[in-house]
This record gives sequence, C-alpha cells and structure tokens, in this order.
Amino acid sequence: MEHTDLYINGTWHKTAERFDVINPATEQVIASVASADIADADAALDAAEAAMKDWAAQTPRHRSEVLRRAWELMTARLDHFAHLITLENGKAGADARGEAAYAAEFFRWFAEEAVRADGLITHAPASGARIMVQHKPAGLAVLITPWNYPAAMGTRKIAPALAAGCGVIIKPASETPLTMLALMPLLEEAGVPPGLVNVLPSRKTGALVDHMLHDPRVRVVSFTGSTGVGRKLLKSAADQVLKPAMELGGNAPVIVFEDADMETAIEGTMLAKMRNLGEACTAANRIYVHDSIAAAFTKRLSARMSALKVGDGTDPSVDVGPLVNADTRDKVAAFVADAVAKGARIECGGTVPDGPGYFYPPTVLSNVSEDADCVHDEIFGPVAAIQTFTDQAEVIARANATEYGLVAYVFSGDFKRALQVCERLDYGMVGLNRGLVSDPAAPFGGTKQSGLGREGGHEGMLEFMETQYIAASW
Ligand code: NAP
Repeated sequence: MEHTDLYINGTWHKTAERFDVINPATEQVIASVASADIADADAALDAAEAAMKDWAAQTPRHRSEVLRRAWELMTARLDHFAHLITLENGKAGADARGEAAYAAEFFRWFAEEAVRADGLITHAPASGARIMVQHKPAGLAVLITPWNYPAAMGTRKIAPALAAGCGVIIKPASETPLTMLALMPLLEEAGVPPGLVNVLPSRKTGALVDHMLHDPRVRVVSFTGSTGVGRKLLKSAADQVLKPAMELGGNAPVIVFEDADMETAIEGTMLAKMRNLGEACTAANRIYVHDSIAAAFTKRLSARMSALKVGDGTDPSVDVGPLVNADTRDKVAAFVADAVAKGARIECGGTVPDGPGYFYPPTVLSNVSEDADCVHDEIFGPVAAIQTFTDQAEVIARANATEYGLVAYVFSGDFKRALQVCERLDYGMVGLNRGLVSDPAAPFGGTKQSGLGREGGHEGMLEFMETQYIAASW
C-alpha cells in the first residue's frame, strides 16, 4: 500500500501508534495505518484554516475547474480505486467499480454546481427596501465517513464542501481508510491546494472528533454512519451550534403490489437488497409482497439469490464478496437465527461457511414475523426478509412504523396508485419501480432518525454554505 500515513497540509505524516487494516476475504493484514491524535487534529485544522482563506476567495469557475479535473482523473483510474475498495471493504469487483464511478461523479456534479450558488434580489413588500440574499462558505468542515462506501461517502462530502469554498478534515472509518488516503495525490494533481483537504485515520475516534467539534474555527459537521453515533455527534455539535449534516441508518421497506411487473419487481428488489451486499443504508430491509403473488415472487427471488457466486471480490467471476468484519457477519447470522426461531422459513442460504473470510451466503427468508429483530433493525447483509400483505392502507402503515425514514421502494403497474402510495410514505426518498435511488444529481437523505440535511443535488452544496441577507436601500 502506497499511502498509509496521515495527510496534513499536503504532506504525509507518520505516527508512533498505528493500526491494521484487514482484507475481509482473507482475514490477512493488508496495511498498517497511522493513527491521528489531538496534536494531529490541531495541525490539520491550522492547515485547513490557512488554505481555506485563499480557496474561498477564488472564483467559482476556478473551484469548478479543479473539481472537474478531479472527476476526469478519478474516472481514468476507476480500476485502481475499485481494487483498493475490494481489498479493504471486500465488495465484489463490479460493485467496487460501480462505487468508484459513483464517487467520481460527485466531483463532476459539484463542478457544475460550484458556479450555481444562486442568490436573490427582491423588494421588501412593506418598506420597499431591497432584500439581497447570497450564500457564503460556512467555514471549516469536519467530515466523518463509514466503511460501507470507502470512496463515495467521502467524495459526496468533499466535492460539495470544496465547491462551496470550505476547507475540510476527513476522518475515514477505521476498517477502510486506504481508499480516502489514495485519493489525496489525485486531488493534488487536480489542483486542490495543500491543506484544503486533510485525512486523519484514527483509533482514538471519539476523542479526536470531539476535540475538532469544539474548535471555534469549525462550523460544519457532516457525518455518515449509524444513528447511535449520529446522536452523539449532534450532542457535541450543540456546544458550538455547528451546522449538522447527518446521513444515518435506514430500515427500507419494499412494497410489491399484485399489479407490479414481476420481472421489474424481482430485478429492483435484487438491486435494492444486493447492491453492496446489503451493507447499505438504502438496502431493502423489509420486503412486503402482496399475498396473491408472494409464492411466485419468493421462488423467483430465491432462484436469483442462490445463483450468485460468493467469493473473494478480486476474482472477476465473483458476484458477492464477504461482509466487512466478523461482527457484521455474526450479526447477520443472529438476525437469521432469531427470525427462524420466530417462524421464518429459509428458502435459500442461511448457513455460515467455513473461513477464512467473513462470508455469508445470499439468503431468502419467507414467513418472517412482525416481531423478528430483522424487521426492526438494519440487517446490513445479504438477507431478504419477506412478509406478505393484503391491504394497501395496512402495508403503508407497516412500512411507516419505524423510527427510520431514509428510503422506501414501491413496485406497481398502476402509476396513479403508486404515486399515491409514494406520497403517503414517510421517507426522504422513494424508488418507484426502481431498486436504486442514489444519484449525485438528486438530494439524498432521510426523515425522522435517518438524518438531517441532504447530500447531492443542489441541496448538497448549501449544507456547506451560510445564507446572508442584506437589507439595502439605494
Ligand atoms: P458507525 O459505527 O457509526 O461509524 C461511522 C464513522 O463514525 C466511522 O468513521 C467511525 O470511526 C466514526 N465513529 C464511531 N464512533 C464515533 C464517535 N463516538 N465519535 C465520532 N465518530 C465516531 O457506522 P458504520 O458501522 O461505519 O456504518 C454503518 C452505518 O452507517 C449504518 O447504520 C448505515 O445505515 C449508515 N450509513 C448511512 C448512510 C446514509 O447516507 N444515510 C450511508 C452509508 C451508511 P471508526 O471506524 O474509527 O470507529
């Protein structure tokens, strides 16, 4: 591995303390990575503050062109990034390449958005003064990312922050710090000045992040990860009243109506369930199928799931890699055991294979009871848990009966009905006859305890900007 040290002010820093990164397919150590402490955080904050002064003063066109070059460079090196993602996260080659391309697209999208921080000028209705509204960079941003998308969850934050004119310190997940470190030379080559983007892997995560969130220069905390950690960060952020962007957990329902096109519903459910091996906040967690088509749907889904080839993701013939670590694999196995104890049937999969590697086979469960743990918690693995329904109002109520509200999926051939159902779902995003909603051009985010704010779309850049209003007379 070429880059395993801290990246501060455009240079690499070694540390006395280091930690191992494991390949989940082989359980072998693939790198020893530097672990940042408080002094490193201070150095990164100093560097980001200094770099941001110049960066924020650059023209939007300049920022746009740097981001555009980052997209071009990353697109030219997709295989390199995909390989790194597979090594540290485990996901299979096609999934990893898909992530690398998706990650690169955030640079292109926000290159286009950088020149569109539109303001407003209007007459105050009562006084006749002018109301002038503009958006300005919010300040230094601390970005914290999870292991499930080692590239994309980082670029989805870095690109809008840079487009807005902010400097950043990024704390990648400890399971997968290598991809983000490898991105830094590419950003340098694209023209990102030293100090503007700093990367601090660390095993002292809580203390390190808390320290940064209490530095008066920091104004934004942008986090993607579990709802539990998100709550803690919101509490820390309250002390300095930081601008929070929180992309948290999900419990996505899939609703398949009796009038759905079966092939579309199967393909969409496969994508919603198996993209990233189910290790996605958007993963189909509860699959509600109309009683009249449930048997046929279950049979076809099981055939598709059991045909997937499981193995080391570096083998191009493999469809499904390992889960990221032993804890995640054991948690998935426990969800299946609990569901079976409460009456579920295993249609395929369901057995942990011998190691090495944290593998779990694509699994379909039918007859899952409402009180099974997997109905209430994120499975975060390749287990499709099927329940049935007969009534539209009842299934909407069941789909909404969760503290999460990230994404739901609806499959129906009746567009009027489908749109009515979409509107009644309390979710930030709905996939309608589609198993994929993620798109850099669309506002990604959830309601309720799935988060605050949006990433991507036009909204993504505004998360890193403050609105200023000038009351003017002339
Ligand atoms: P996690 O445990 O919450 O970790 C995410 C990040 O937070 C990691 O960088 C982690 O660092 C850091 N962290 C952990 N404890 C912290 C603390 N006390 N203070 C500050 N930072 C802390 O989540 P995960 O297991 O990596 O990711 C899975 C979760 O992310 C799922 O719930 C999933 O739904 C959610 N997710 C949401 C979205 C979305 O867009 N809504 C996208 C992807 C994933 P260490 O690795 O060093 O512990």
